[in-house]
Amino acid sequence: MVSILSLVLGLACLCHVSLALSGEQVVQDLQRRLSPGSKVVLASDAAFAKDFTPRFSITTPPVFVVAAKPRLVTDVQQIVRYASRNHVPFLATGGGHGYSSTLGRLRHGILLDLGHFDAVEVDAAANTMTVGGAARSVNVSSAVQAAGKEIPVGQCICIGYAGATMGGGIGPYSGLYGTQSDSLLSAEMVTGTGDIVTVSEAEHPDLFYAVKGAGFNYGIATSLTYAVYPATNGGRAVNADMIFPGHLNGSVWRLAASFVGRQPKELSITLAVGYDPKLGGLFLIGNFIYAGPRAQGLDLIQPFLDLKPLNVSISTVEWKDVPAKAVYGHTLAGCTPGAHYVPFAANLYRVDVPSLVSLANYMDEAMSADPALRSTIIAWAQYAPHGFQRHADASSAFPHRDAVVFAQIDGFAEQAAQVPALARFGRDLRRRLQRASGRDALAVYAHFAHGDEAPEAWYSASRLARLRALKAVYDPENLFSYYNPVLGRSGCRAGA
Ligand SMILES: Cc1cc2nc3c(=O)[nH]c(=O)nc-3n(C[C@H](O)[C@H](O)[C@H](O)COP(=O)(O)OP(=O)(O)OC[C@H]3O[C@@H](n4cnc5c(N)ncnc54)[C@H](O)[C@@H]3O)c2cc1C
Repeated sequence: MVSILSLVLGLACLCHVSLALSGEQVVQDLQRRLSPGSKVVLASDAAFAKDFTPRFSITTPPVFVVAAKPRLVTDVQQIVRYASRNHVPFLATGGGHGYSSTLGRLRHGILLDLGHFDAVEVDAAANTMTVGGAARSVNVSSAVQAAGKEIPVGQCICIGYAGATMGGGIGPYSGLYGTQSDSLLSAEMVTGTGDIVTVSEAEHPDLFYAVKGAGFNYGIATSLTYAVYPATNGGRAVNADMIFPGHLNGSVWRLAASFVGRQPKELSITLAVGYDPKLGGLFLIGNFIYAGPRAQGLDLIQPFLDLKPLNVSISTVEWKDVPAKAVYGHTLAGCTPGAHYVPFAANLYRVDVPSLVSLANYMDEAMSADPALRSTIIAWAQYAPHGFQRHADASSAFPHRDAVVFAQIDGFAEQAAQVPALARFGRDLRRRLQRASGRDALAVYAHFAHGDEAPEAWYSASRLARLRALKAVYDPENLFSYYNPVLGRSGCRAGA
């Protein structure tokens, strides 16, 4: 018998008194309650690995005793109500790509796999798209392009589209349209109170606000409807990749800085700084996506080409293929669980060239001295402000509209023993980036967070009071507390 009791009682952030339920008991109870076509198994069952959504390789994964895959929204409701009544922790899973270390606080709970909610339907005449709570970005892109439309999509095709939307959802076309959540029109949610509600500007507008940036704190979105837009440039974009030797980093930063305040909405700039002895040590990859005519795109990036990169690859790609083709196709690696991922991040509100040059020098020295650090990459997403600014700051819980760069520090450990050194290095680089950010306090896009930051960093101090008050209404038992929780580590009930 697998006892959930002792581990539930040990949780710091769950304020429930637990009943003594075994995993077997939970399986039996849920099987009785859920509709045909739903599936409930013990996590020790062979079907768990075969039939349930795996999690991206993270160092502190949640630990499940039971896995449930509901067929209907009323099944989702049943699981939430059952878990609440019996004080059993659970985590909804869409694409399984969430990686915050806060997920590791869930010990021995229920995996609520939304895998059956994967439909994507585009209504071209109405310019809308409706997706299930576990639809993947790749399926969204294909369906939207087939209808002659577009919408912001992240740079990894395997992430859950709804999951990303819950925190905002940013990608190369954010320069045109803002976050994924900015295009959200309505969502069907099962809240922490076990109710099924529709959220939109007209219905539960307070929860609608919270869902767009902090949604995973309040409930589970089973169906989401978005606005989609007529395809720009006939649904095609210029994709330019180039590799620069490390000694050119100052010139690359200066060019990146030159776009701040004047970056065309159609242009996205992604940079990656890494280390490879075969490339002479430190190197940079630049990726430029331009949603417009090729000649215009090439004109814009000509200053980067003038630096004479070591390698250049320029192609015209269909909009749906942008995430998979960008950065020499390396973004596809995000689909394959493998090395332990050691992520950190910091928003930048300016491009401070001297500080970035000294950061690059520091990385070069540290990585040449210690081969164990060489898997570290700083990834830099610089989207045009137009899309973010066409939506009022007060329209959603997403607090990062004025970020100039979403910087990530990604470490990849082949073995668990390498994680501590990579984590120390990642934290160190984050501190240095933060000092160069133009802000006194660390701010981090919630979906890029390590999980050790304060809620103020994810949601901003000015939004927290409102977000916490909404917990008391929609999730008073704090059931949704395992992913960058607005109540923080010690929060139990709103106001408690
Ligand atoms: C390789 C990689 C690349 C990435 N690139 C980008 C990017 O370009 N842009 C970007 O914005 N983000 C990016 N992300 C971050 C991504 O948005 C988050 O990891 C997000 O959580 C993924 O959603 P998911 O459904 O796959 O994750 P899950 O792990 O399934 O979910 C993460 C959290 O969201 C909740 N959740 C998931 N689905 C729902 C739902 N339907 N209703 C309510 N809550 C839900 C879960 O309960 C959990 O708390 C990337 C992540 C990875 C690993």
